[in-house]
Amino acid sequence: MSHSFSTDPGRHAAGIGMTSQRTRDRLVETLEQLAPLDARVLDVMRQVPRHLFVEEALASRAYDNVSLPIGHGQTISQPLTVAQMTTALLQGPPLRRVLEIGTGSGYQTAVLAALVPEVVSIERIAALAARTRRILRDIGVRNVALVVGDGGQGLPDKGPYDGILVTAAAATLSPKLFEQLAEGGRLIAPVGAREQALRRFTRTADGLHEERLGDAHFVPLRRGRS
Ligand code: SAH
Repeated sequence: MSHSFSTDPGRHAAGIGMTSQRTRDRLVETLEQLAPLDARVLDVMRQVPRHLFVEEALASRAYDNVSLPIGHGQTISQPLTVAQMTTALLQGPPLRRVLEIGTGSGYQTAVLAALVPEVVSIERIAALAARTRRILRDIGVRNVALVVGDGGQGLPDKGPYDGILVTAAAATLSPKLFEQLAEGGRLIAPVGAREQALRRFTRTADGLHEERLGDAHFVPLRRGRS
């Protein structure tokens, strides 16, 4: 677990690095006013250089509270969504190993990696995964195993997990995902086809406990690799 991110791997135009700490602080101030969020998550979001996870042309908008395109028809999640999902995941016993389904830009992955000893993340679009792997390496994130594949059924080989975070929406979740949750573990996912809701499932000794956390707007979970 490292809280020191390299914010200037030399990939981006001069200037952004100089203003990004201030703009990150401002983004976090905005988020704090919108929802109750875990202070540990906010601390991490003050540090993770989100501008490196978006295309260079969009870097100036990286610290707005918006989702942005990342190519291949996918989007980087809105910062508030990342903060809320991570907050919901942290509530409960400590997380040792977390599975993220839908790596995308890797921004959520980097936030998790600063809070959890071991992160496994699966992405079905190989080109996106390759780009994200490079960015995570460049900023010094080392506790992430990035896998290319269809994560719709989870990744049982590396489980069980104390937390599972799904960052693409499915009409229904595979029961196999819940089997990969350790006892006390939490799964956070947007569920629904046209109308999505963010849901948290907690695995207890008596079964699954389900909560609705709010509305959600995610790209769809798709089958197969690409
Ligand atoms: N947390 C990411 C969200 C990216 S959008 C971010 O903030 O950047 C959701 C991602 O899920 C996309 O990259 C998409 O390709 C991926 N995805 C969709 N279905 C998937 C599946 N079955 N297995 C793995 N990844 C999937």
